[in-house]
Amino acid sequence: KGLKKYFPVKGGVFGRKVGEVKAVDDISFSVKEGEILGLVGESGCGKSTTGKSILRLSEPTAGEVKFEDQEITSLSGEEMRKLRRHMQIIFQDPYASLNPRHTVEKIVGEPLLVHGMNSTEDRKERVRELLEVVGLSSYHASRYPHQFSGGQRQRIGIARALANNPKLIICDEPVSALDVSVQAQILNLMSDLRDQFNLTYVFIAHDLSVVKHISDRVGVMYLGRMAELAGKNELYNHPKHPYTQALLSAVPEPDPDYQRDRIILKGDVPSPSEPPSGCAFHTRCPYVMDICREVRPEFREVETDHYVACHLYQDAVHS
Ligand code: SF4
Ligand code: MG
Repeated sequence: KGLKKYFPVKGGVFGRKVGEVKAVDDISFSVKEGEILGLVGESGCGKSTTGKSILRLSEPTAGEVKFEDQEITSLSGEEMRKLRRHMQIIFQDPYASLNPRHTVEKIVGEPLLVHGMNSTEDRKERVRELLEVVGLSSYHASRYPHQFSGGQRQRIGIARALANNPKLIICDEPVSALDVSVQAQILNLMSDLRDQFNLTYVFIAHDLSVVKHISDRVGVMYLGRMAELAGKNELYNHPKHPYTQALLSAVPEPDPDYQRDRIILKGDVPSPSEPPSGCAFHTRCPYVMDICREVRPEFREVETDHYVACHLYQDAVHS
């Protein structure tokens, strides 16, 4: 709630703070147990920072993060460490996040050791079990990361994340670095694992087509703010925010009758260190009005469970 993450920008000979980047600028949302919330936006929109702030891998500048009704931003390091077994993260590049000098057994077993499984035999047994859960085999345990394909490496990353039976997993573009054919396999695996273990995901992606099948609800971010948030079908079939409409128009449809007219946005995403006044999207919006340059639109529920931050909808408040 009201989550903010600002990074100082330093400059000059003395390295003084000369400004700040509002990577995440006052966003609020909730994720239900067992749900997959897709979080989408172009690079630099703050979606990864949001994911890291939820886990306090990046300390929020302001705002609240509640996990199962517990406010966690004020917890001590030790309390947070205990809670982390329930909250995991999977990264985009499994190769960079797996130690190349460690065997799979050591990599997947490490979080078990950290959380107190001291017996080597117990860890071995659990690692074997985890490898099978993610579609690998126990004979992979003695191998090293470079001996695997990209998709297999992501399976290892997932096995490691699952080691301590987490409840919430932040998935930070887990398939973006993979070939399209492999993407589908990993998405299916993650979807099955959600069902099997009643997991909750915040699933970060830079394009709407990746999260289309896996998500229950989808949030669209732009320049550190939430532009729109709704149930998946509602968002894909009735997008309200002009930015969501533009992103969706770029997603190819299998049936050409359903293909939307492509909306080409003018210009680039402005720098997050100098976000536009008013609505952050006003420099590129095809529907921009005078008020958009002055007043930041509120993020409001304009229909049941459909939230949007845009002046085009500010009168249509759902009651
Ligand atoms: Fe466009 Fe204005 Fe809506 Fe922003 S508030 S998305 S500029 S119409
Ligand atoms: Mg990112």
